[in-house]
Formats: sequence, structure tokens, C-alpha cells
Amino acid sequence: MRAVILKRLAAASIAFTFIAAFTDASALAENSAEANPLPAKVTGLTTTALTKSPTGCKPSKSALGVSRTITIDTKGGPKYGFVNYPGNEILKDKEVLLTFDDGPLPRYTNKVLEALEKECTLATFFVVGRMSIAFPKTVKRIMKEGHTLGTHTWSHGNLQRGGSKRSIAQIERGIAAAEAAAGQPIAPVFRFPYLGRTSAMEAHLKKRNIAMFSIDIDSRDTRGYSPSRMVSHTMARLKSRGKGIVLFHDIKRTTAAAVAPFLRALRKNGFKIVHLKTSNVSPPITDLKKKYDKLLSARSSGDKAKIRIAQKAFKSLPARNKRSVKRSGTLKVNSAVTPSVPSINSDPFKRGQ
Ligand SMILES: [Zn+2]
Repeated sequence: MRAVILKRLAAASIAFTFIAAFTDASALAENSAEANPLPAKVTGLTTTALTKSPTGCKPSKSALGVSRTITIDTKGGPKYGFVNYPGNEILKDKEVLLTFDDGPLPRYTNKVLEALEKECTLATFFVVGRMSIAFPKTVKRIMKEGHTLGTHTWSHGNLQRGGSKRSIAQIERGIAAAEAAAGQPIAPVFRFPYLGRTSAMEAHLKKRNIAMFSIDIDSRDTRGYSPSRMVSHTMARLKSRGKGIVLFHDIKRTTAAAVAPFLRALRKNGFKIVHLKTSNVSPPITDLKKKYDKLLSARSSGDKAKIRIAQKAFKSLPARNKRSVKRSGTLKVNSAVTPSVPSINSDPFKRGQ
């Protein structure tokens, strides 16, 4: 029995090594195809200087403001961010693009929004679909204050696990839910949870004309750092790199406390904020959007029976493809496991707005 287990472990290790090698090889091929270090050469991109933010606040000498707006055409699914897509640089020296993932969560997202407003500056939020349905007012506030709203799947699924049907459902439900919560078209920009891209899902996003954003710098706000350590770490990375798309999470207490001092540190060190916009929209799948509209209106009516009916439409995602390794080392697909998506009522983040 022990020998069989060891044999299976060895086979699994070979299979994972193969997968890792394949991933590295495809990343290299992609990087060389996209190698383009100069911002001026990035196609489908226009820039404009910003003197007044959409919120109406006039940048004063003492506020960080926004130095320019980059408008991207997301047709064909362009990819940005050094960690996954080195070479396709959109920032110039001393420029910073602020990005916030995993929200909205009102008690922290609102603090982040207040800090940004105080500095008269703008960011991009990659929201999670089920969080958007739980907190639509915060989604609307993000948009009203002029920030860019992209998506980050329905329930923060790791798209490197599970099959393509399930992953597409994660992506599309996230988009439909965020747009239903926003009540207006959102930006066709997406970030893979855990930066876990797959070539199949990149192909899907490309077909849907959705831009993919990786990161340049991780603020490490998920690692239990204190706000001051988080600020000093991120500033050190920025100074060494000279610019960057910075990743934060607006569901973290540390982040809510660290954003204001971080923005002050940016100003003190001569960094400028770039605002991301898109020149086009990529509408959500109509049927899905209608279902989320129905769910949101049921929730705002407070009618429990209506909520139950609307939630039924999202009882589960398509089956997860559980990979298991046979003795031969080949992968077999087991689609028997169908975990359900947490309902809004069981959402651990659920709080009143
Ligand atoms: Zn995330």
C-alpha cells in the first residue's frame, strides 16, 4: 500500500512539474511576443492631462490630484502589469496606478474612498461580484466619485482550479453582478484572483474584448503588516522600480488605515497618479444581468420569498473539474463535485450599508 502511495505521489509530482514547466514556457513565449518597453509604443492608448477630477474637486498644491488619464481600447484583450505580463508598460517614470481588489466592503472601502477624495485622486477597483450584490451602494459610490470599476470574478475563484465552464461562469457572473450593482456600464478590465491566469481564460477575455491587469508592485496588505510597515515597504518598492501598478485590497483594515499616509508619502516623494479609463464597454451577458437585477430589486424590497426565488438562479456554479492523477501520470477529470456558491445571506462579509 505504501509503495502504491509513493508511486502516486511521484506521478503527481511529475505531472505538476510538467504543468509548471508548461506555464513558464508559455509565459516566456508571451513575454517575448509582447516585449515593448516604451509607453509611447503601446497601441490603443491615449492620454490626457487632468486639471479637474470628475468629482469636481480641483487639485490644490497640497493635494496629490491626477497627473494624467490613460484611456485604453480593450478590444482584443490587451494585458498589462509586470508580474504576469512584463514588457507591456503603460506608465512613465514616477507614475503610479492605484488598484484595489476584493471589495467592496463598506467599512473599509469607504475609508479608502475618503482618503482618495481628500487627495483629489482616483483609482481602479477590481470588485468581486457577490460583494457587489451585497453592497451595491458602495459600488455606486465608487463610480459616482469618478473611479474606474473593473471585476475580479463572482466569488474570488481561483481560475487555475476547475474547468473552463466554471471559470467562465466566475468571470461572467462577476461582470454581470458588478454592472447590475453599478446600474451603469462598467469598464471592461479584469484581474485574475491570486493573479492565477490561464491561457484558456485569457482567450475567453480576449474574445470578450476585456483588458487583463496584473500588477507591478504588491503592497503586501494581506500579510498582516502594520499600516506604517505597509507604507514603507510599498514606497521602497516604488523607489526602486521608479513607477508601478500597485495592488491593495480595500477589504483590509490595514489598507483603510494606510492609504492616507501612503498618498502623502507619494506626494512627498514626487510620484504622480495616473487614472485608467477605457474607450469602450463590453456588455455583460444579458440573461445573467437580468437575473442579478432581479436579485437586487428583491433584496431592496426586503421580500424574503422573492429573494429566495432570485437566489435560486445562482445556486451553484458549473462543476469543478477536480484533477486527480492516475498511476500512469495522466490527468483525469472528475466532474462529480459541485460546490454551491455562498448565498448572499450566508456571505461572511454581509454588513448593513
Ligand atoms: Zn483578489
